[in-house]
Amino acid sequence: MKENLTPDAVTHTVYLCQVSPNVSCGACCGLYNVADPDPRALEVMLRRRTQWFADVPRTVAGIDAFKARVEGIEPQERPFPDFHHCPFLGMIEDTGRRVGCLLHPLAPGNHGLDWRGLSYYGGMACRTYFCPSVRHLPVRWMTAVRQSMDHWYLHGLIVTERRLLSAFFKELENRIGRPVNESDFSDGSDTALLFRTFATLKLNWPFRRKGAPGVCNYFFEDGQYLRPAVGKTADGIPASSFETIFRELDSGFSSTREIHDAAERIEDIFRRIEGFLSARNPEDGHPVGHKAGMPST
Ligand code: SF4
Ligand code: SF4
Repeated sequence: MKENLTPDAVTHTVYLCQVSPNVSCGACCGLYNVADPDPRALEVMLRRRTQWFADVPRTVAGIDAFKARVEGIEPQERPFPDFHHCPFLGMIEDTGRRVGCLLHPLAPGNHGLDWRGLSYYGGMACRTYFCPSVRHLPVRWMTAVRQSMDHWYLHGLIVTERRLLSAFFKELENRIGRPVNESDFSDGSDTALLFRTFATLKLNWPFRRKGAPGVCNYFFEDGQYLRPAVGKTADGIPASSFETIFRELDSGFSSTREIHDAAERIEDIFRRIEGFLSARNPEDGHPVGHKAGMPST
């Protein structure tokens, strides 16, 4: 939910907070830390807030009253009770539709005034915070994420998954024998689609352990709410080469058969991405044998 990086940071990071008309992120504002994080429920919630906020006088009292109204009708039970969920997250609707900050100076009705100082974290934090993924993951991986996403909901869910993304891209680069590059996950490509298939596992992973918190990720590195090791409720379930991916998907297995099925799902995605990438020239992203300037057949 930030409008700008510092000039120095721009050269070392990829901007993932606002990406395109339908892709943005509100994860660090607690977007998914709600009782019902289903995409339809979140969309209804965000659009309702935006509609209400349109009539709110831009005064301290008016904005405080809006906050009280929102918190009065929305369930306040949260998967992570100590992770603040901001009531000022709403929906930006212009040429697309994406999550956004109602207090931002560019939000409709604010006439350039920044009201984020009224939020729980305060204006400075809202303007300058960047999550561990943005700060630490290589630009080439974050570029692949940015190019692959086509909807705010999945984008915000996967962006903060620093360890999951790291395990994914390390495995892929080992397999293809080189770093991924910009052309590997170009907009609309099969590989971008497969990356979204991988990210979607966070939503529909059938091996999620009992008692796992759901899709929301507590990514602040303060030692709270650490993800446990992969749950194994029977003797003899072997370790997997996808152990990190399984842990980051909050997995639990009750049999060797289950962990093999889970590994096969992940393996299938890697196999297919590898197939597409190995058929391309890593220099220019075109199919191997294609000459620059000539249409591919
Ligand atoms: S979680 Fe990261 S990418 Fe998402 S809005 Fe916050 S800083 Fe930006
Ligand atoms: S006020 Fe701050 S925490 Fe709330 S939505 Fe805006 S940027 Fe996020």
